[in-house]
Amino acid sequence: MKIKARKMPAKRAWRKLVKKQQRHRRRQKQARQREKDEAIEEKARESDPEYQAYLKQQVELEQFQRLASERLRQHEEEAWLRREALAQHQFQIDAAKRAQQEAEVDRLRAQQAEALAAQQEEQRKRREESKRLADAAAAEFEAMLHRMHEYMEDTEERSPPAELRRVVETHPEERLCEFYTRTNCCRYGHSCTFNHRRPMLAKILLIRHFYTHPLLQVDATHKEYAGADEHLELTQHDLRADYDEFFKDATGELEKFGKIVNFRTVCNTLPHLRGHVFVEYAHERFALRAFINLQGRYYAARRLNVEFSNLKAWRGAVCGT
Ligand SMILES: [Zn+2]
Repeated sequence: MKIKARKMPAKRAWRKLVKKQQRHRRRQKQARQREKDEAIEEKARESDPEYQAYLKQQVELEQFQRLASERLRQHEEEAWLRREALAQHQFQIDAAKRAQQEAEVDRLRAQQAEALAAQQEEQRKRREESKRLADAAAAEFEAMLHRMHEYMEDTEERSPPAELRRVVETHPEERLCEFYTRTNCCRYGHSCTFNHRRPMLAKILLIRHFYTHPLLQVDATHKEYAGADEHLELTQHDLRADYDEFFKDATGELEKFGKIVNFRTVCNTLPHLRGHVFVEYAHERFALRAFINLQGRYYAARRLNVEFSNLKAWRGAVCGT
């Protein structure tokens, strides 16, 4: 550019500069005139009451807007403070609730632990008590056996001691169980609510379920099925023959303890009566000897269950000999 400018003739450059200055002055003049016009115009406007009113209105409007936005800001701040206070309050409520729940959980846990401990203690006591009772019963039975031995070996033939004359009662305050009194057996067993009376010594021994036979195992109410199973070949004749054999075998054993005057078997299919054998000895001493000697003995792979009986009449209790 410098090279070009140097090439430009000085006259031409001068004219250009003059024109530029002329333009500048003209613009300045115009601007001054415009300002003057505007000032005049402004003055005229300012003296116009309508314009004055407009300006006032503008100022009022601005003020109103400022006040409104200030009020809104205050309102928002108050709302925020209220929300914050509410949140704080809720937080405190929640914290209190949590603390209460935790305390409740702790309390329940403690309660459960206490209950468990109490339960364990109760179980321990029950175990101890049942062991104590079992020990006491065993000791009593031993003592009774001892008394029985003494009486049995007594050569002076004295009457039995008072302990052996005792009668054991299951519910002394209740009336007698009719069935037990008549048969010495009761389908309810130990759970019967009536009174079962059992002597500690008698001439008659009861050996429960002593005689077992397939025909006796059949439930009386299902006789029609009896012929269809393994009992097909068995008849009443077989039962009789088998029973005769049992009778010979059993009396042979039992007579070793003394003279037998009666031997009766309950040939009943009812489960609580089935195969019970009553053995009446001529003397209580014989029955006692049998009782002592049969303790813990087995017959046909079954442990013998022997007790004294106070049966008054055979009729009604047994159906065979
Ligand atoms: Zn009963």
